[in-house]
Amino acid sequence: MIRDRWKESEARGLEGLGLLVYGSRLLGAEEDLVLHGGGNTSLKGIERDHGGREVRVMRVKGSGGDLASIGADGFPGVRLDDIAPLRRRKDMTDAEMVGYLARCLVEPEARRPSIETLLHGFLPDAAVFHSHADAILALTNNPDPERHVRAALGEGFVLVPYRRPGFALSRLVGAARAAAPRARGAVLLNHGLFTWAPSVRTAYKSHVAAVRAAERYLARRRRARPFGSPSGRTAGVSPWHAEALSPRLRGLLATPLRVVLRHEAAPEILEFSRSARAAEMCRIGPATPDHLLHTRRLPCFVPARDPANLERTARQAETAIREWSRSYERWVRKWNREKHAVEDCKPRVVIVRGLGMWTAGRDPGQARVIGDIYRHTVGIMARAAGLGGFRSLSPREQFRAEYWELELYKRTLLPKERELARRVVVITGAARGIGLGIAQRFLDEGACVLLHDRDQERLVRAVRDLDRRSGSQQRVASTPGDVSKEGDVVGLFALACHLFGGVDVVVSNAGIAPAGALDSLSLADWERSLAVNATGHFLVAREAMRVMKAQGTGGAFVFVASKNVPAPGKDFGAYSAAKAAETQLARVLALEGAPHGIRSNVLHPDAVFEGSALWSPRLRAERAKAQGIRAEDVPDFYRRRSLLGLEVRPRDVAEAALFFASDRSSRITGAWLPVDAGLREAFPR
Ligand code: ZN
Repeated sequence: MIRDRWKESEARGLEGLGLLVYGSRLLGAEEDLVLHGGGNTSLKGIERDHGGREVRVMRVKGSGGDLASIGADGFPGVRLDDIAPLRRRKDMTDAEMVGYLARCLVEPEARRPSIETLLHGFLPDAAVFHSHADAILALTNNPDPERHVRAALGEGFVLVPYRRPGFALSRLVGAARAAAPRARGAVLLNHGLFTWAPSVRTAYKSHVAAVRAAERYLARRRRARPFGSPSGRTAGVSPWHAEALSPRLRGLLATPLRVVLRHEAAPEILEFSRSARAAEMCRIGPATPDHLLHTRRLPCFVPARDPANLERTARQAETAIREWSRSYERWVRKWNREKHAVEDCKPRVVIVRGLGMWTAGRDPGQARVIGDIYRHTVGIMARAAGLGGFRSLSPREQFRAEYWELELYKRTLLPKERELARRVVVITGAARGIGLGIAQRFLDEGACVLLHDRDQERLVRAVRDLDRRSGSQQRVASTPGDVSKEGDVVGLFALACHLFGGVDVVVSNAGIAPAGALDSLSLADWERSLAVNATGHFLVAREAMRVMKAQGTGGAFVFVASKNVPAPGKDFGAYSAAKAAETQLARVLALEGAPHGIRSNVLHPDAVFEGSALWSPRLRAERAKAQGIRAEDVPDFYRRRSLLGLEVRPRDVAEAALFFASDRSSRITGAWLPVDAGLREAFPR
């Protein structure tokens, strides 16, 4: 049941736009009422314009705004006296409507008002609230909506047949309102609920009351198994199966652009995926046109016969996605008379029997929005089952909603994609120094970044800072672990598959630096260096290669090695020998990865002190001894030693790593790049 969240103590003292913001956020706070940018609200009142004159203004939600977090600036003002003449017009195209509304704005630079602005404007009431509430959609998306809406909500609401939002629907609702002066609102078939009232408080309260009445009505008709009994076998299925399938699905969905995948296995989703009628339900359509832009018309259902059999399930997924794309193309060809551009013909939602739901987005934030919407769609379908079965828009109206210029416009508001957008990057040794510098740079370039490090405390802090800095759309995650432990590395890549669907770029950076002359070096130090600086890279490379090959969309490895490989230093044998092994491993990986479009390149940084864990006080003391200088002079000694006489910083290494990670280096593999401000030893005397 949704809650009435209105608190007189909070609302007291608020008026006008402030009160509208308050009431709108309450509406947005309830997922069953409003999901990610859905719904809209408005308030009419008197304001002073730029010339000091009193004008009648309607504040209405701006296009693409989110009610849950909306502020006063989310409500552009529209002059009502400018809208009034439109009541006499017979019709108006969407483009004319948008152009007209742009001229009615109180602040010319304000964001575009909602596509449902005229509907709000044609109602005489001061406050108007609109949502696509789940319970209302269950009442309207079944074979007999009139009867169920009446029975659930009584006579207080007018019923409006489905029309795509726009001028005609606005007129229709306005006329229905005029013909039923006592009505508190309208139920729009296959669309949602409007409530109107003289005040924000009453419009909100009557909205909540109507939805609660619908919820009570539906609860009485609830079916225990709305989609039939479970079918087929699901024995032996574990979360591992979903993680292993993720990169396969990600590869199948990757053309023309990579996607980030989000997996969901909530109990109601798993139950839906296993039910006898899941395939049939996946062929019906969305609950409201607003959802279509996110989820597309239909999800792709994979009827996995034995979900624990990965190979077989992957083949079935390939077939199902191919068939989905063909059918989508046919549907577009049939209805696309105005020749709208088609981005791609791939599903946004994939449901695999027994394993759950995957949603595909340009980033994890979008994938989550799509997942939330489809989870709610499943809930709406389940409730409609008690009213004779779920129904959706006709295929023609589905097309008109998915390819509607006014909704497509919202896409143009998105920022241009950056160089590493849609890519998943795993970085080891990422809590500080070079690894952290690379994480920062890659996040700024739009990547999803999974940080790995032994130092859990620093790791948590680093992720918090990165997340705050980047406004990251859930693009940053972390997990602690040791690259020399097989289980930790396997877990790291399973997590990348779980969180983002796979991996595209690996920055293998974790390292330690035990120092000591060969004749005094302990076996333990030697072995520990090999374990982290050589075996660690092997384990990372092996797990990442498996995921990349499963995706089949190429990949890039960036190995952070050391200047000590081309030019070893004395008393640094355990480190230099292991780093040489890393470098050779990277070159073999270039050979083995090339047939799969997987590149492998190496960076050789030198003397990066900023934020470094490698340069511990002990190492500084030992290097000072080896060079015959004081410990505090070590950074300066290395700086002077370089040809350029400049300090090498993490961000310098990050620039080089970005080059190797990006498509700008698409023709480079098996290469070394020193990042050392120039090294005298590199030039033969
Ligand atoms: Zn709507």
